[in-house]
Amino acid sequence: MITVKAISRQAPRWQRELARAISDPAELLRELELDPALLPAARLAAARFPLRAPRGFVARMRKGDPHDPLLRQVLPLAAELAPAPGFVTDPVGDGAAQAAPGVLHKYHGRALLIVTGACAVHCRYCFRREFPYAEAHAGVGQWRSALAYLAGDASIREVILSGGDPLSLSDQRLGLLLAELDRVPHLKRLRIHSRQPIVLPERVDDGLLDLFARTRLQSVLVVHANHPREIDDTVRAALARLANAGVTLLNQSVLLRGVNDAAATLAELSEVLFAGRVLPYYLHLLDRVCGAAHFEVNESEASAIMEQLRQRLPGYLVPRLVREQPGQPAKIPVG
Ligand SMILES: *Cc1c(COP(=O)(O)O)cnc(C)c1O
Ligand code: SF4
Repeated sequence: MITVKAISRQAPRWQRELARAISDPAELLRELELDPALLPAARLAAARFPLRAPRGFVARMRKGDPHDPLLRQVLPLAAELAPAPGFVTDPVGDGAAQAAPGVLHKYHGRALLIVTGACAVHCRYCFRREFPYAEAHAGVGQWRSALAYLAGDASIREVILSGGDPLSLSDQRLGLLLAELDRVPHLKRLRIHSRQPIVLPERVDDGLLDLFARTRLQSVLVVHANHPREIDDTVRAALARLANAGVTLLNQSVLLRGVNDAAATLAELSEVLFAGRVLPYYLHLLDRVCGAAHFEVNESEASAIMEQLRQRLPGYLVPRLVREQPGQPAKIPVG
């Protein structure tokens, strides 16, 4: 797991916030006035996949509520350690799909670049929780071969920066990468998949907006919010700055038991997102990664929730329910 390096006082505010993120389960429990009896299990589960939650995100959680939907996404639980048949370490076949170091080219016209293993938050359900980022991401030294791969395939029109969270990179490093991508003539679009505008809205600062202003590529930012309470005034302000900078904003969520497995919650999420100028894009069925079985919502329940959503919302606010299946040419739509 990648650790956050010592951060100087001159570092941008978001980097200082990231360095102060909560990583000690005891501190999280104390902060939220939760039962210390949760601690031993939290420590065990965190030894497998460390806790990390920015303080601003924790501040949106309800004190004294162990079932808070935001808390559930980050609190390590004993349930993660229970064996669950069918839950594996690489559920989406990323290991096999690498076209070059750090490049996943599974779908026509789009190539995904894993630019970092680091995230501002550790989501307990994440399908990459078991992925060997340290070896698999296109580190600085490997950008050459990843860029050469993109440059060598003229069918690629869109480059997707992913990770980890690509906005964990400094503006300087992102700027170098974007300048290189700008020079690949067949690339038209830049898509960034990041949870940071939601969990660390400080990331959306002048430096980042400047990068979007400089690139010739049409920019899409796919954020990741699962519950309407994730979006507070600080997040709304960050999203407004991005939208005003001409960045197209989409959201993807994961359907999670105990977090957003109700039509009313998802309908409210769509409303809140749209008020923040974000369109719902995908609602993913959980990828069956070890340690996440307690989050699963089965397909028939998921379809029933979707049916209710379609009855409540205009079509453009209904996300597409999809499942990722290794070896398929696209995400698979589900009822
Ligand atoms: C999900 C994914 C994409 C993007 O798929 P869209 O349907 O365009 O959002 C691209 N590449 C990989 C490897 C993916 O997993
Ligand atoms: S931010 Fe995204 S990649 Fe990072 S842990 Fe959460 S779901 Fe996984």
